[in-house]
Amino acid sequence: MLEAKPVERAAMTDEVAGGPTTLSDALVRLAETEDILRAIGAGEVDAFVISDGGSEQRVFTLSTADRPYRMFVENMRDGAATVSSSGLILYANRRLAELLSCSRETIVGSPLARFMAADVPIGLDEIRGPGGVGTTVEFDLLDGDGAVVPVLVGSSPLEVDSDQLICLTFTDLTARKAQDREIARLGRDQAERMAELQDAQAALTEQATHDALTGLPNRNLLVDRIAQALSHSQRSRRFVAVLFVDLDDFKQVNDTHGHAAGDAVLRRVAEQMRAALRPMDTVARIGGDEFAVLAPDVDSQVHAVSIANRLVTAFRGPHDRKDTEPVTASVGISMAVGGRATAETLLTEADTAMYHAKGLGGARVEVFDSALGRKVRQRSAEQRALQSALDAGRVIVHYQPIIDLRSGGVTGFEALARLAELDGSIVLPAAFIPSAEDSGLIVPLGERVLEMACHEACSWHLPGPPESRLTIAVNISSHQLDRYDLTTFVGETLAQTGLDPQRLHLELTETAIIDLRPHIVQQLARIRDLGAEIGLDDFGTGYASLTHLRRLPLTFVKIDRSFVRGLETDQEDDRIVSAVVNLAASLGLRSIAEGVETGGQLDRLRELGCDQAQGYLFARPLPPDALPTVIQRSAW
Ligand code: C2E
Ligand code: MG
Ligand code: MG
Repeated sequence: MLEAKPVERAAMTDEVAGGPTTLSDALVRLAETEDILRAIGAGEVDAFVISDGGSEQRVFTLSTADRPYRMFVENMRDGAATVSSSGLILYANRRLAELLSCSRETIVGSPLARFMAADVPIGLDEIRGPGGVGTTVEFDLLDGDGAVVPVLVGSSPLEVDSDQLICLTFTDLTARKAQDREIARLGRDQAERMAELQDAQAALTEQATHDALTGLPNRNLLVDRIAQALSHSQRSRRFVAVLFVDLDDFKQVNDTHGHAAGDAVLRRVAEQMRAALRPMDTVARIGGDEFAVLAPDVDSQVHAVSIANRLVTAFRGPHDRKDTEPVTASVGISMAVGGRATAETLLTEADTAMYHAKGLGGARVEVFDSALGRKVRQRSAEQRALQSALDAGRVIVHYQPIIDLRSGGVTGFEALARLAELDGSIVLPAAFIPSAEDSGLIVPLGERVLEMACHEACSWHLPGPPESRLTIAVNISSHQLDRYDLTTFVGETLAQTGLDPQRLHLELTETAIIDLRPHIVQQLARIRDLGAEIGLDDFGTGYASLTHLRRLPLTFVKIDRSFVRGLETDQEDDRIVSAVVNLAASLGLRSIAEGVETGGQLDRLRELGCDQAQGYLFARPLPPDALPTVIQRSAW
């Protein structure tokens, strides 16, 4: 610290007076003199006298020189204060008054602590401490209304007349804090959205790979796993087995007990399968009541069948509750070791074997083999042939006359479907009806035949009263009765062709009406109401019982060809035909014998009292243009 010496004070005044002529000039020169600056800082210099060397002299007091700095502090964009070492506010600039929403009279003289939300270390010791001068600290001010004002405080020590003071600046952080909060909020939102997206992603993955009802893997995931197992089996040379499991009569569970009960059965079955399998096996639900199992690492066919049997046995477990109907299943197995097999071929083959198991009555296990494969390929070739015949209008109908055994005259014809090949040959029903039944093509085929037959029958003319007009018998498949509104189609066809409904006879194969479910019986009753007649075809070969004969609205039964064939040679056949003719008569039904080939058979049928007959003895099924000759023939 510079000592205050009057000499120096005088000297300085002299020097200034003898040298520079402007203030800036004087200041520049002063700036070079460190000691003089210190003297000013210590309050030892009060004024400058500046002379131009002549009479002109100007006096600058230091308070004048100070003013710009005071104004600067006063008008600063930050708040500023001087605080005594005991914490009293000695000075506050205008901005600080604004920040604290208080008058300066209130602020000056008050302890700084009054305006602080919490104790903050901004005393002299802290300023001089490790952080030191120039460090800043954030804290909250409390304004006159008690509202919080976040600020950044800078502090520096100030020594005035040996008093230790503190200079503080306050930068308002309100806007920045709001911005920070907004950024944090956006960050939080972003994080939440990310979490939501991740959850959605996980749910989608679960949905894409699992079945919602049972929680089992779905077909996609199963196919992946089969592919993996196949590539692994290429090295291990052990079998990969795929089991296709289809519940028997599941539709009935749904129909009788409702869908909730059906769902419960599916969940239970899923659980039982999981429990019955090895940990390495995968069980998947791949359709309504269809499950498939991947059993990798299988030794042999016997091993695979034993896994399948374990499953089937598991379903038979205890069923103590009402919603747990006992369940049986049909299982198809296919096996492969690496090579050219794919997941899809294994699944298709297992499905085929399962279908075969179903065809054999269900509740059994079948293994896919090449013979079955051939059969399936043949079926699908048949389906393609039928489809293209339907598309190209190559379905034709031949008509076999039905003879009244008392008069020997023609009473009507049976319509029998055929496919006309491009080479002129004709395909018989045995080559397309079974695959048409499998594929559902039997419905459009049946419609086509019904339309053509009704149309054809309208062109036949026979003299005599209306009741003697020729009838037309059309074969109907079970599929046409089960999931399809046959009645409406029959009604429309009769209306369109103008055929007298009483001339239309529908023949149901015995196997078609085994189940007497109400909707089937009702559908037949409605067809009867239209005026058409209904009869049982191939009687004696299927499962029809007396109940069927009583419950169904029938008017005739057709005795199957296999019994008629033995009429002359086999006593048992003779007795069966005799019994059927009598049964029909006692129930008020007409009896019609099929496949009559010999005069002996015809004679015996007449003796037994059979009403009508058809067979090669009279005529083979004939194309429409051959019918007039048959119709005109008076008697056989
Ligand atoms: P089905 O209804 O029992 O028809 C009688 C079958 O016996 C016909 O065979 C007929 O040609 C044959 N047949 C008639 N008399 C004799 C005979 O004296 N000896 C021999 N060996 N056979 C005789 P087809 O035409 O081959 O039809 C076979 C079966 O195909 C039909 O048996 C019927 O169940 C089915 N079918 C034919 N057309 C249709 C159709 O449009 N719809 C449906 N759903 N099934 C049809
Ligand atoms: Mg028939
Ligand atoms: Mg028949």
